[in-house]
Amino acid sequence: MPVSTERKKILVFRELPPDQLARLQARHDVTLANPRLAEQLPAFQAALATVEGMIGSSYPVDDALLARAPQLKVISSVSVGVDNYALDALAARGIMLCHTPGVLTETTADTIFSLIMATSRRIVELASLVREGRWTRNIGEDLFGRDVHGKTLGLLGFGRIGQAVARRGALGFGMPVLYHSRRPVDLASQAPDLAGKAAHTPLDELLQRADIVAAVLPLSRETRGLMGEREFGLMKPGAIFVNGGRGATVREGALLDALNTGGLRAAGLDVFATEPLPMNSPLRLHPKVTALPHIGSATFETRHAMAVLATTNLLQALAGERPTALFEGSAS
Ligand code: NAP
Repeated sequence: MPVSTERKKILVFRELPPDQLARLQARHDVTLANPRLAEQLPAFQAALATVEGMIGSSYPVDDALLARAPQLKVISSVSVGVDNYALDALAARGIMLCHTPGVLTETTADTIFSLIMATSRRIVELASLVREGRWTRNIGEDLFGRDVHGKTLGLLGFGRIGQAVARRGALGFGMPVLYHSRRPVDLASQAPDLAGKAAHTPLDELLQRADIVAAVLPLSRETRGLMGEREFGLMKPGAIFVNGGRGATVREGALLDALNTGGLRAAGLDVFATEPLPMNSPLRLHPKVTALPHIGSATFETRHAMAVLATTNLLQALAGERPTALFEGSAS
C-alpha cells in the first residue's frame, strides 16, 4: 500500500501530552473536543461528520456514534482494554482499532500487587490509625494482618499483566501461582522464568485453593459477571479478592455479600462496574475494601508511553502503514 502524506482530519477526544499533540498537528488537521465536557460535546459531534481518525479513551464508542462518522478509518485508543468500543460495529464498518498493549504492563502489575499488599497487611486502615491519632498503644491481634509471602496466588487472566503479577508473586514473594484462562500458556517457550511456578487450573479449583485471588481479565461477553455468588462462595474462608482488570467482570452485589456475610477477608479494587464510583456505592466506605480510582497505569512514565504508542498507531494507520499495535481481530 503506498504511504500517504495527505493531511487528514483527526478528532482528539481526550487530553494528550503536548509533544504527542504536536506530532499529530504537524501531519494532520486536529480538532480537540472532549465529549465528557458538556461545553465540548457539540464540537465533538460536529467533528464526527468529517474525521478519518480518532484518538482518546474512556468514552463509549457505539454503533450510533459510528453512524455519524462516515469517513472514519481508524480509532486509536489510549488504553489496552477495548471494552468501550462496539467491536462488531467497527468490524462491520471496516474501521481499524489500535490500542496500547505492553507499555502499561509493569505499572499495572505494580498497582495490582500494591492492592494485594495493602489488603493483606491492612495498610490503609492502619495508616489511618496513625494519621487520626488513634495509635495510643501497641496494636493487638485484632489489627494484625496476614502474610503475603508464601501464600497461594490465584490469577484470573494470565496475559501480559497477569504474568507480570505472577512474576512479582512467584519470584519476589515465593508464592505458588495458579491461573485461569481459556488456553494454557506454554511457559517453557513464552515465560521461562515462570516455568514450574505457575499452573493452569480450572476456575473452581483455583477459587478453592487460592489465598489471594486477583482478577486481570478483559471485559467481554464471556467475562462479564464472571465472579458472582457461586464463585465467591467457593473461595477459602479468609481469602482476599483483588480486581485490576475491569469492574463489570465482578457482580458487585455478590462481592458485598461475600464481604458482609461470607468468608471474604478483604477486597482491593482498582476498577468498578460504574466509574467514577457513585457516592452511594456501599463499596466506597466499606471497612474491608481498599478502593482506588482506576489508577492501574497512572504514572507519568507509563501514561506518556501510552500516548506515544497511541499517537504512533494513528499516524501509521493514516499513512496507510500497518499500525504497531492493531487490536487483534480488528479490521486492517
Ligand atoms: P491480555 O494480554 O490480552 O490478557 C488477557 C488474559 O485474559 C489472557 O490470559 C486471556 O487468556 C484471559 N482471558 C480472556 N478472556 C477470557 C475468558 N473468557 N475466560 C478466561 N480467561 C480469559 O491483556 P492484558 O494486557 O494482560 O490486560 C488485561 C486487561 O486488564 C485489559 O483488557 C484491561 O481491561 C485491564 N487493564 C486494567 C488497567 C487498570 O488501570 N486497572 C490497566 C491496564 C489493563 P485466554 O485468551 O487464553 O482466555
